[in-house]
Amino acid sequence: MASTATTPPPYGASEQLEPLVRRVLARNPSPFTFTGTQSYIVGGGGEVAVIDPGPDEEDHIAALVKAIGNARVVAILCTHTHHDHSPAAAPLAALTGAKVVGCAPLSLVDDGPRADASFDTGYHPDHVLMDGDSVTGEGFTLTAVATPGHTSNHLCYALEGTGALFSGDHVMGWSTTVVSPPDGDMSDYMASLEKLQTRGDRIYYPAHGPAVTKPSQFVRGIIGHRRQRENQILRLLEPGSSTIAALVPQMYAAVNPALHPAAGRSVLAHLIDLERRGRVRREADAGDLWAVAG
Ligand SMILES: [Zn+2]
Repeated sequence: MASTATTPPPYGASEQLEPLVRRVLARNPSPFTFTGTQSYIVGGGGEVAVIDPGPDEEDHIAALVKAIGNARVVAILCTHTHHDHSPAAAPLAALTGAKVVGCAPLSLVDDGPRADASFDTGYHPDHVLMDGDSVTGEGFTLTAVATPGHTSNHLCYALEGTGALFSGDHVMGWSTTVVSPPDGDMSDYMASLEKLQTRGDRIYYPAHGPAVTKPSQFVRGIIGHRRQRENQILRLLEPGSSTIAALVPQMYAAVNPALHPAAGRSVLAHLIDLERRGRVRREADAGDLWAVAG
C-alpha cells in the first residue's frame, strides 16, 4: 500500500487526537516501525488506559508517565507481543500500579516454535481478554476485538460509543502488515479483515503511521491487494515450480530490498493459505519449492 508522507510528531510529546484519545510516539523508527511505535492514552478524566506501551526505553516510559500525570491507570493493554509493543508494559505497571490486561502471551511450550526473535517473551499479563471482553474507566469503555493473523494473539480495541478502533499492527496507515508463519497466518488475517468490515468504525488508530480515516474503504483496498498478491503468485507458478527466493524479487521489485526477507514471510503465508485451499502444492519434500496444484 502507498505510504502517506507526514511530518513525524515530536518524540515523547502527548498529542490530543480527540477528547478521549492522546498519542505518544516512541523513538524507535525503523523500516518496520515507520516513525516509531505510537502508544495511546485513553480517557479524559481521572482514569486512563494505556494501549501498546511500546519498547522498554527509559525516555518513552518517562514520556508516558508525564502524559498520564495524576490520572489512575486502570489498565495497560497490548495489541500483541512483538518487541516494539509490549516490553514497556511491566516497567510501566511497576511505576503506576496498573494491571497488564489484554492479549494472551504466546505459549511456546504448547504451541511449538510459533514465536520468533521478534516476540517479547517477558510479557506476563495479569488478565487475558477474550473477544468481546471490556475494560472500563471513568468515561470510557474499551472492548477487545480478536484479530489474529499478523500474530495469533492480536487484539484490536474499540473505544465504545466513539467509532474509534485501535488497530495495532493489523491495519496500519503506512504499510501492509507482515504476516510471518508459523505464528502469522494469512487465512486468519483475511478473516480478521473481513471481521473489521462488518463493524463500521469511524477511524482507526494504528500502532504505526497516520490514523486511517476511511476504514471501510481502506480495508477493502487491503483485501483487494492481498487477492492481487495471491493471483500474482499463481500466475508466476503457472510455467512451473518456483521458490520464495525467486518469487520475491519479481513480486516486490518496487520495494526496498531490505524489506524483501519480510516480504518473503508474507509470500510463504500466502502459499500456506493457497495450499490449504488446494490451489498450490509443495514439491515432494523439497521444502521451499512450490507449484500450482492439479
Ligand atoms: Zn507486530
